[in-house]
Amino acid sequence: MQCPFCNALDTKVIDSRLVAEGNQVRRRRECITCAERFTTYETAELVMPRIIKQNGNREPFDENKLHAGLLKALEKRPVSIEKVDEAINRIKNHLRATGEREVPSRIVGEQVMQELRQLDEVAYVRFASVYRSFKDLNEFRAEIDRLANDN
Ligand SMILES: [Zn+2]
Repeated sequence: MQCPFCNALDTKVIDSRLVAEGNQVRRRRECITCAERFTTYETAELVMPRIIKQNGNREPFDENKLHAGLLKALEKRPVSIEKVDEAINRIKNHLRATGEREVPSRIVGEQVMQELRQLDEVAYVRFASVYRSFKDLNEFRAEIDRLANDN
């Protein structure tokens, strides 16, 4: 984002929040060159961050992939499509609101876990066991027990 004062190209985001029901992001920016501050309003499409995969590759955020992942975890579970769509919107809003241009895929995974935990415990355990790379549910439960004992 170009600085309107000195035209420098490097500006940093110092505050970022959603406005207009999540369709716009209001950003407070500071120019790295002249230190002037200004506000921008950016549409949601422009601000969906790219995803940094575990191997360091960057890829565009893929809503279909997210949708498929959630549906797989929720297979044969009593959760409506409407609830799934709401969860996806919350995840997207969260990613936009970070104000980052790129976010690690881990952030998306954690958001999915958080949403599934609210939607359906079975789906949550399914997803978590795959996401955390546990070999089976027993290993996952053992991890949960270990965490519980640590507290
Ligand atoms: Zn400037």
